[in-house]
Amino acid sequence: MSDALESRDPHCLFCKIVSKEIPAAEVARTEGAIVFKDVHPKAPTHLLVVPLRHAANLGEFTATAANHEVGDLFALASKMGREAGGDGYRIVVNEGPDAGQTVFHLHLHVLAGRAMSWPPG
Ligand code: 5GP
Ligand code: ZN
Repeated sequence: MSDALESRDPHCLFCKIVSKEIPAAEVARTEGAIVFKDVHPKAPTHLLVVPLRHAANLGEFTATAANHEVGDLFALASKMGREAGGDGYRIVVNEGPDAGQTVFHLHLHVLAGRAMSWPPG
């Protein structure tokens, strides 16, 4: 957690959720990550898996994180998707304007609870 606080960006929305300065519907917290409900859910289950440490996107995170941190983040997202209890789930990471990223602190979307189409829009 001290690591996360050291890397905190004072202007970042998800850093403020990590530090509880802004409330969120938290469903899990591990040594390296927090999971909370997306405020505008796009599926019956829509969770965000967010590293405690600030990184703007997946590229920045993977360039600076230990391999186990990346693995732990995906393992946590997979656990959340399985626990949602449906017949499958989807993990989405948007990076950059073309992908529609709006919050520049890495987050894995975990979507579950309905059938989804492919390709995404
Ligand atoms: P992105 O577009 O960057 O991939 O996803 C950002 C996500 O964060 C969106 O799905 C949006 O609904 C969610 N979000 C934005 N602001 C808040 C907030 O204040 N609280 C929560 N829980 N989710 C948020
Ligand atoms: Zn941040």
